[in-house]
Amino acid sequence: MARWCARNGWPVHPLAAGHKTPVANCEPCRQQRHAPADCPCIPAGRWCHGFHAATVSDERIDAWWSAHPGWGVGVSCGPADLVVIDVDAHAAEVPDRSRLLPGIPIGQQVDLTGLATGFDTLALLAALRGRPSPAEDERTLRVRTPSGGMHIWYRNPHP
Ligand SMILES: [Zn+2]
Ligand SMILES: [Zn+2]
Repeated sequence: MARWCARNGWPVHPLAAGHKTPVANCEPCRQQRHAPADCPCIPAGRWCHGFHAATVSDERIDAWWSAHPGWGVGVSCGPADLVVIDVDAHAAEVPDRSRLLPGIPIGQQVDLTGLATGFDTLALLAALRGRPSPAEDERTLRVRTPSGGMHIWYRNPHP
């Protein structure tokens, strides 16, 4: 996974095993506050400072994940020039239609009955734009998350 992302030009960084958060910094980095740009760890090939340490280097990736096979893989979406939609599957209380899609008016004729999860909200947004829902988009990478949600990956179109 990490090497595949790197081959696509997407910088990766390690995530703590079983978590969505970066692995912990080294002891000195935890003790002394400093900017990632001033950190000696990153040039030295360590993984401190989360996405700031993201790399496309095969050598670095092999060193990190062969020593810690349980680590997850985080992609630094900005430098990778990716836009990833994070869809949540848990049902949440639906806000008033004026706040459901901020900045996008939803007319009274639109029936919001049954709207529950992020998949529904995304489908609504797509329908308002006359497009199919990205959750159904077979042309791109879609990844189920452990909680039943989905990450939908797009290259930044630079409109
Ligand atoms: Zn460090
Ligand atoms: Zn540091």
